[in-house]
Amino acid sequence: MGLQGGAAPVVAGAWRGSRRCGAMQHEMRAEYEEGSSGRVAGAPVKIWHMVRGNGTAAMCGRELAPDAETQDADLWATGDSGPFCHSCGAMYLREVP
Ligand SMILES: [Zn+2]
Repeated sequence: MGLQGGAAPVVAGAWRGSRRCGAMQHEMRAEYEEGSSGRVAGAPVKIWHMVRGNGTAAMCGRELAPDAETQDADLWATGDSGPFCHSCGAMYLREVP
């Protein structure tokens, strides 16, 4: 008797991408003060840039560390999660009305 199993394995971990269907996905990526690395927990974020997909090149052209912290693009220009890069903001708002 009894049914067993059937539960789908839950993949825990690294996938933090947004599930929204969009033409183009963006996410914020942190730039740190010189000498700081994203690997250091609590490293001060100098400014947040916007990148397309999950690349490391900001829309303003700056190369960011692949291990830098990221944030959901929905948080752009909200509350006190900044400061934000103005160049990225201008381009981002042009792509995402
Ligand atoms: Zn930027």
